[in-house]
Amino acid sequence: MNPGILNLHNHTPFSDGAYTIDEIVEAHLDLKEIKVAGVGISDHLFCTPTSREVTNEREYQRIFAAEARNYVAEVRAARERWGDKIRIYCGAEINWPKNKGMFKLIPDMLEGIDYVLFEYVDWAGLTQLANAARRFPCPIGLAHADVSREYPKTPHDQIVRTLANARIFYEISSKFMPLNDFDPWYSVLPQHRVQVAIGTDTHDDLHCLRDIQPMHEFAVRKGLGDKFVAPGPRARGSAATPTPAMSA
Ligand SMILES: [Zn+2]
Ligand SMILES: [Zn+2]
Repeated sequence: MNPGILNLHNHTPFSDGAYTIDEIVEAHLDLKEIKVAGVGISDHLFCTPTSREVTNEREYQRIFAAEARNYVAEVRAARERWGDKIRIYCGAEINWPKNKGMFKLIPDMLEGIDYVLFEYVDWAGLTQLANAARRFPCPIGLAHADVSREYPKTPHDQIVRTLANARIFYEISSKFMPLNDFDPWYSVLPQHRVQVAIGTDTHDDLHCLRDIQPMHEFAVRKGLGDKFVAPGPRARGSAATPTPAMSA
């Protein structure tokens, strides 16, 4: 099943975004040149500014499990308000360096979350994520990762294989606009079974939504048109069993 055109990276005032879910959804529906089938809200979770660092597991679980529950409830309410006008997904963006110490707790704290974007994942982190990918109850992906810069010592082929084996999706991000047709990463990526997502990382400027159409066109041009990730809960332990590639 092809999920249609989705923008999976939007922040709201729940974390550091300026626009409410409704404002973001309206702005997507207002786009003239394309029809967006689904909007993913991807607020930063597990990093609410606190005056002190959360250092023990019980405290981490107590504070952030409640936060995640409130967040999921808020996004679900919006999903109901918008009915079948547009799909609304409940994603999360997680900062790897800030959370890697508590990483093993995270898969059990994602009830109701449809996908997770991890940001600032270094190579050691990606290896760790890949090993744990099957413990996650939903798809996980790399947010706005410039692989040549983040993994300068690792060949593209090895990066792409790591993503493919663990079924970690790769986000095509507004941060890299305009996308370069000659970027060597995009000659390697389509050769493997790696799913992709489109993300504008919307914070305080809705003009970034104009990037959805060129990013989508770029993905299709690069042969990634049938590889868009479909957010949503999945059975645990299923990550290692590849599901058939989605047909266009
Ligand atoms: Zn980010
Ligand atoms: Zn973001």
